[in-house]
Amino acid sequence: MNITVAKGSGFCPGVKRADAEITRLINERKLNERIFTLGHLIHNRIYNESLAALGVRSVTLTEIKEILDDGEESPTTLVIRTHGITKEIHSQLMALADSHPNFTVIDMTCPSVKRIHKIADENTNECTYFVLFGSHDHPESQGIISYAYGKKAIITSYKEATALDLEGKIPILCSQTTQNLLEFIKIKKFFKKLYTNAKIFDTICNVTENRQNEAIRLANKSDVMIVVGGKDSSNTEKLYKLCREACPHTQWIESAAELKTDFPDSAKSA
Ligand code: SF4
Repeated sequence: MNITVAKGSGFCPGVKRADAEITRLINERKLNERIFTLGHLIHNRIYNESLAALGVRSVTLTEIKEILDDGEESPTTLVIRTHGITKEIHSQLMALADSHPNFTVIDMTCPSVKRIHKIADENTNECTYFVLFGSHDHPESQGIISYAYGKKAIITSYKEATALDLEGKIPILCSQTTQNLLEFIKIKKFFKKLYTNAKIFDTICNVTENRQNEAIRLANKSDVMIVVGGKDSSNTEKLYKLCREACPHTQWIESAAELKTDFPDSAKSA
């Protein structure tokens, strides 16, 4: 069987950046230093297990508060994940860093996500309606929406976009970085047609866009597609769904052990 590996496979630049920083922290760990991540650094179980094996624990905000109040004087470092956090949690962490001299916060929010925080913060007010094309329960969406003032909503599809009542306010449209590109194009067209005063920002990450385009191209010409990525990764889920539409024999696996090799007899390329 002919096997093609997608050029865009592997960690994206945002994850590479966070991984490099956490590796540096582990290698340069001070005596007794405790290193934590606020939630999992990235959505990849195998990667997160390897961090845990190196003594880096994923904690919640409540847990880090309890850890800081346990009376130990050890240096404590907390890394913020690539998807970012809400404005409120960010303020609480800064206040904790101010009141605990041994506590350091390292913000590894991807610059592409930070850009959307800035867009939401600078373009919204009581006259606007901020609309985010994203997943309701995804930390990135929750972080982004927290930076918007005025009315705001998360939509998950073109259908939901058409059902919105923007109450005469100025629409501000953004997307979570890993959303489905084709669906966002439909939503943008709808907004442009219906709201002449809408401000529309292209915030799907270039890496995501290129990967989705490449995955669709490969899925269209392959008999079998294997998508490798975390089962809780929104990015991987989108790629899997897009590939499955074009290639029915698509598998989503986290590790080689999960690969099912009962490919159809006619399969010549993967
Ligand atoms: S925004 Fe793009 S580069 Fe940044 S973490 Fe997400 S996928 Fe990676």
